[in-house]
Amino acid sequence: MILPIVAYGDPVLRKVGVEIDANFPDLKELITNMKETMYNASGVGLAAPQIGKAIRLFIIDASPFAEDEDLSDEDRATLKSFNKVFINAKILEEDGEEWSFNEGCLSIPDVREDVTRKPKITIEYKDEDFKTHTEVLEGLAARVFQHEYDHIEGILFTDKISTLKKRLIKRKLENISKGKINADYRMRFPSLKNKK
Ligand code: ZN
Repeated sequence: MILPIVAYGDPVLRKVGVEIDANFPDLKELITNMKETMYNASGVGLAAPQIGKAIRLFIIDASPFAEDEDLSDEDRATLKSFNKVFINAKILEEDGEEWSFNEGCLSIPDVREDVTRKPKITIEYKDEDFKTHTEVLEGLAARVFQHEYDHIEGILFTDKISTLKKRLIKRKLENISKGKINADYRMRFPSLKNKK
């Protein structure tokens, strides 16, 4: 089932997600629905707060990035198979010199800004079977993970841009929270919630 994606301005996007365990109600179904929702919106990642649940769960499928021309064969192979469920994820270490990449977010349609992040991270997480993994991610794989991880911490990529750029997109963000946007997928807008 395709779920509506929560738009910028909804308080759920600002909540720090809580950890979950294997008894979380209908978890398999939730993950299936989140995947369907992400693919329908042509996203490479989706975090639970974006469908209205403040829990530490997100999914990533970075395979569309594998089409990028400028990648090494190794990076291409990594991205092609970077399709995972992350539960109770932690960033254990972040390394390297910050690099800039133009990010976007399904909760903030039509806004893209350069965000700087560190290129190499060591992470720990549980998969959908609650098996624990420790992995090192680099480049775009690390980038997508960091963006989704921020969601479960209540952080959005627009928090990480300069004061000037924030000012420039202020009106656009206000419009998104008011539902004045045409996304080509289902969304839920905070200011329209109580006006049925
Ligand atoms: Zn996002």
